[in-house]
Amino acid sequence: MRLVIKVGTSTLAHKTGLLNIKRVERMCKVISDLKNAGNEIVLVSSGAIGMGLGKVGITKRPDDISTLQAGAAIGQCELMYVYDKLFSEYNHTVAQILMTGAFVAIDDYGKNLNNTLFRLLELGVIPIVNENDTVTTDEIVIGDNDTLGAIIAERVKADMLIILSDIDGLYTSNPSTDPDAVRLEIIEEITEEIEALAGTAGSHLGTGGMVTKIKAARIATESGIEVIIANGKDPEVLYDILNGNAVCTRFTAK
Ligand code: ADP
Repeated sequence: MRLVIKVGTSTLAHKTGLLNIKRVERMCKVISDLKNAGNEIVLVSSGAIGMGLGKVGITKRPDDISTLQAGAAIGQCELMYVYDKLFSEYNHTVAQILMTGAFVAIDDYGKNLNNTLFRLLELGVIPIVNENDTVTTDEIVIGDNDTLGAIIAERVKADMLIILSDIDGLYTSNPSTDPDAVRLEIIEEITEEIEALAGTAGSHLGTGGMVTKIKAARIATESGIEVIIANGKDPEVLYDILNGNAVCTRFTAK
């Protein structure tokens, strides 16, 4: 299987913005094992801004763009250092791909990106993709890593896009405010009613909530890619997803 795994800030980091070391270690171990079993994996990872700001002691999210972009520059380095170190323990090589909207809009960039992605997979490498938040402006922003995950899944012709979040799927309403919310097991058609379930807000660290996850599910399923939303708090859920017995929401491919 060719898998694109998107992991959100709420999975990677503590509420301080700093790395959740135990969880990231376990995630890299499980992904390495899945790779050893013959799967190809592309990781779409958030978390750079929070980690960068945390590293220089900024605990409150700043309003000014230059501090945020500086945080992204510091944190992206830290993030890749951690991935490189952890995957190396299992003898896997990682590569960094930093995207902007220009890669999607300009054909030549897109072609080079595709060629690079496929070459990396041929070489047995784990590409780790993030938006290039140090240089993005409103004009070239992709905006959220759920959408980025779907774009990458389309490009590499993935079998599955797995979105790991702080919740185990799409519920009938936001479970953090509605105790009666029920998880939806399988979604075969993304209707307006499904889109309306997403509400607007996500957790305070993540950005997109369910809105961007459903948008990503639409992009990917329309390209024939199955999409799973599952809880990343226990990375072993990835085994269950591949075995077809995970607690999750599954969007079937068109
Ligand atoms: P991530 O950082 O993993 O992308 P987000 O915080 O952006 O995570 O999105 C997940 C959050 O979306 C959940 O924790 C929940 O509070 C919120 N949410 C809003 N509506 C729903 C819904 N219908 N089902 C599940 N979660 C929802």
